[in-house]
Amino acid sequence: MDLRSYIRDVPDFPKPGIVFKDITPLLRSHEALDYISHALAEPYKDSGITAVAAIESRGFIFGSGVARVLGAGFVPIRKPGKLPWKTRRGEYTLEYGSGILEIHDDALTADDRVLLIDDLLATGGTAACAAMLARECGATVVAAGFVIELAFLGGREKLDGTPVYALIEY
Ligand code: AMP
Repeated sequence: MDLRSYIRDVPDFPKPGIVFKDITPLLRSHEALDYISHALAEPYKDSGITAVAAIESRGFIFGSGVARVLGAGFVPIRKPGKLPWKTRRGEYTLEYGSGILEIHDDALTADDRVLLIDDLLATGGTAACAAMLARECGATVVAAGFVIELAFLGGREKLDGTPVYALIEY
């Protein structure tokens, strides 16, 4: 399936110099959504994945579809202050400034084999922070899957050692 035709480039959003990859045309297509759930799940369908951990907010859309295909549970990794229970917190660097992510302390255990999912891998700070939070809960992070990878930003190096795969590369 030609997913690229569903991705809209929006220059200078949310700030000058950034070309935003708008996935809303892709979300509008049930064929594309179904294809992505299966394509992201396929490489890890025999890997004993017990949980899909996904990053707020666009990661949630794809992560829940992948979890259903894999027969795994879903774990939300959220922006600060959103999760109601006891949380672990991680900080990461963005191009300008820093970001914070949180996970419920009891969301994952040492018995869990986790597939991390987000919509897009750019510089890798967000995904590296999410992987660290899952590991801090004791879980094994088996791989990290993305719909889009901006390969020229070298984000996969930040995930040191975690296998990274993406359906579309720019
Ligand atoms: P990074 O931490 O630099 O890898 O950024 C990844 C996160 O920021 C993902 O959750 C993306 O949704 C978002 N993001 C970064 N760059 C873009 C972009 N050019 N277009 C759309 N989303 C982006």
